[in-house]
Amino acid sequence: MSQFTRCSTSKYKFGAHISTAGGVSNSVSNAFNIGCNAFAMFLKSPRRWVSPAYSQEEIDKFKAKCKELGYDPITDVLPHGQYFINLANPDPEKAQKSYDSFLDDLQRCEQLGIGLYNFHPGSTLKGDHDEQLKQLAFYIDKAHSETKFVKIVLENMAGTGNLVGSNLTDLQKVIDMVKDKSRVGVCVDTCHTFAAGYDISTEDAFHKFWQEFDQIVGFKYLSAIHLNDSKAPLGANRDLHEKLGEGFLGLEVFKLIAHADFLQGIPIILETPQPQDEGYGKEIKLLEWLENFNEDADAKEFVSKSDELQALGATSRKEQAAKFDKKKTTTKRKAKGVDIVNQLGNKRAKKESN
Ligand SMILES: [Zn+2]
Ligand SMILES: [Zn+2]
Repeated sequence: MSQFTRCSTSKYKFGAHISTAGGVSNSVSNAFNIGCNAFAMFLKSPRRWVSPAYSQEEIDKFKAKCKELGYDPITDVLPHGQYFINLANPDPEKAQKSYDSFLDDLQRCEQLGIGLYNFHPGSTLKGDHDEQLKQLAFYIDKAHSETKFVKIVLENMAGTGNLVGSNLTDLQKVIDMVKDKSRVGVCVDTCHTFAAGYDISTEDAFHKFWQEFDQIVGFKYLSAIHLNDSKAPLGANRDLHEKLGEGFLGLEVFKLIAHADFLQGIPIILETPQPQDEGYGKEIKLLEWLENFNEDADAKEFVSKSDELQALGATSRKEQAAKFDKKKTTTKRKAKGVDIVNQLGNKRAKKESN
């Protein structure tokens, strides 16, 4: 018997990104053994473009295990696409290569009876941002026409500039262009959100963010959560996941998550830097404790737990804060440098026109 018994009374589908070593069907028991109510995994090697197809035996095993262990693959499994897939790439050959792997992933989902597929919306690189968003929507439409039921879920990103999905407006624009809106959704990563500059670290800010999300994207598209603390400070644009409570978000945010009605019923997937799956088992138990939190009886324990976790992440936070400060000063100095170049340019232009 595992020490992380799956909780059948939780209103939330807390789970984790887990290993498929030895075959995709192993993911089901791996998830069960650490008490997941939902889980994520890669459908094939995250490092190679092409992987061997699933055998019928493996497909049957996956489905049988889901049935046996009580996972509905339509709602409880959220595979993650390969990081190098970029459907917004302005290079047509590279975009096509991405699409081939993307479609292959979606077909694997349908073979396994999986209803959700999460991926990074990519980068528009040197292309025109809005044009490339149009291309991304085109590929989503194309994938819809070549598959039957799997929902394509766009993840929000931590970066800036050409990266698609660092702001909510990008996601809204893409969804707006997709024809079959019943088969498109959004996954909000708590670390990416914070690193992209949306503060969710206090109760007020948390609710304000979700209000903004609802206004811009709409709750009906919210299909999943990636649950991570952030090693980097607010607006640092760094995609650095931290264990729950040890980063700049802190335990309070995860208490808010475990009480947010609108997050019930969708996969809430941990991707924290855990050396072993047991680490996720512990975090799931922590989340379930937060869900059943009693303001009077548990207040003291919450403070000591929160302090303990913050202390564990203190050195790392200090390091990242210093890096971010340094980056800010360099950017400021660079911006000043650009000003000087512009002024010089103007002076020169004036001289030449005289
Ligand atoms: Zn991701
Ligand atoms: Zn990330």
